Amino acid sequence: MTAEILAVGTELLLGDILNTNARYLSRELADMGINVYYQTVVGDNRSRLLNAYRTAFSRADIVIATGGLGPTEDDLTKETAAEYFGLKLELHERSWEKINALFKKMHANMTTTNKKQAMMPEGCLILTNDNGTAPGCCIERDGKTLFMLPGPPNECIPMFENSVKPALKPRSGVVLASKTLKICGIGESQAEEMLKDLIDAQTNPTIAPYAKTSEVWFRITASGKDEAEARRLVGPTVDEIRLRLGENIYGEDDDSLEGVIVKLLIEKGLTLSCAESCTGGLLTAKLVDFPGVSAVLLEGAITYSNSAKMTRLGVKPETLEKYGAVSEQTAAEMAKGIAETSGADIGVSATGIAGPDGGGPEKPVGLVYVGLCVKGRIITKALHLTGDRAKVRIRAVVTALDTLRREIIKI
Ligand code: AMP
Ligand code: MG
Repeated sequence: MTAEILAVGTELLLGDILNTNARYLSRELADMGINVYYQTVVGDNRSRLLNAYRTAFSRADIVIATGGLGPTEDDLTKETAAEYFGLKLELHERSWEKINALFKKMHANMTTTNKKQAMMPEGCLILTNDNGTAPGCCIERDGKTLFMLPGPPNECIPMFENSVKPALKPRSGVVLASKTLKICGIGESQAEEMLKDLIDAQTNPTIAPYAKTSEVWFRITASGKDEAEARRLVGPTVDEIRLRLGENIYGEDDDSLEGVIVKLLIEKGLTLSCAESCTGGLLTAKLVDFPGVSAVLLEGAITYSNSAKMTRLGVKPETLEKYGAVSEQTAAEMAKGIAETSGADIGVSATGIAGPDGGGPEKPVGLVYVGLCVKGRIITKALHLTGDRAKVRIRAVVTALDTLRREIIKI
């Protein structure tokens, strides 16, 4: 079975927005074992869109269109689809009522053009939109299926998940099972090197690497005649990768680094506080992303200036004078200071040069020191990070968290 993706919108062609829907849909379809050979982007133009439908259906059984379901004149996806299939548009009462209710709830004024969003090709299947006004729809004719999804990703993705996926799954003929292993602390190339023979020999299951900022994920996917068989096929490869990558793997599937850390801290009955300089609160914020963190997190202090490092954390003036704010010694004293003053079992600190200015030959932009004080024991780590200011800061956070994780495991 083959599917094509048709993204509709002049703003995509002008480069104003990135076609993230196509990437999402392609990945999801691949995971379902459905072949995607073409992605098309077409502007808000009736005749070119009509041509795009013709071309897509000449090659594929299923077309998934996104965008162009809005209320304005230039939103033509449904209108042109109706023309392509020779269908009339008719008012779908339930959708119209829902749009009315939504506007009432938002205390917004509706214009007559909003009615356009409830005009649907006759006989189509309505895909409800719980996150916006535009309903999606599905037309099936002569063995061809067209799904039309809204453009905004926060509407497109849930609609695909809730309506399209369940409809396509039984048709794909295969059942897939997958497991994602999440790795931190080693780079993508190093991780791939450690799995090279497995990756080279992969057939079923497949091993797909995804490089994230300071993380690498490997998704192991197998297809089988039923779920049990697919799962059975995934198992041995997952076990082998676990064996090889060991504690570089911080979690799997929906795990997050901060979530794994918080759970470890809870399990071991430990509390934590953070002292941040160049990360400016990002480290604490990342931990707070995980609900339940209140059981372990006592405090996060943003000590940006030298005086804050001294008064809040007790960093010694001589240390700052002799080694500078960006140094192993300062990171150590920051971690110790926050642990002691907040009464936490563990203190974590980060101090560095995020750039673009402030770097020098000895201390270049991207140099960050992470400090840990684990029940009085000090550990420091020098990081040499690349990227712009935002990247350096996020990479510092992820590396600090990973350093912390590796220390907690040992306790
Ligand atoms: P539309 O339904 O075409 O009016 O699109 C509404 C909004 O959805 C656009 O302004 C974009 O912000 C977003 N959008 C549309 N198409 C895409 C796409 N292919 N990928 C990501 N976002 C999109
Ligand atoms: Mg549009």
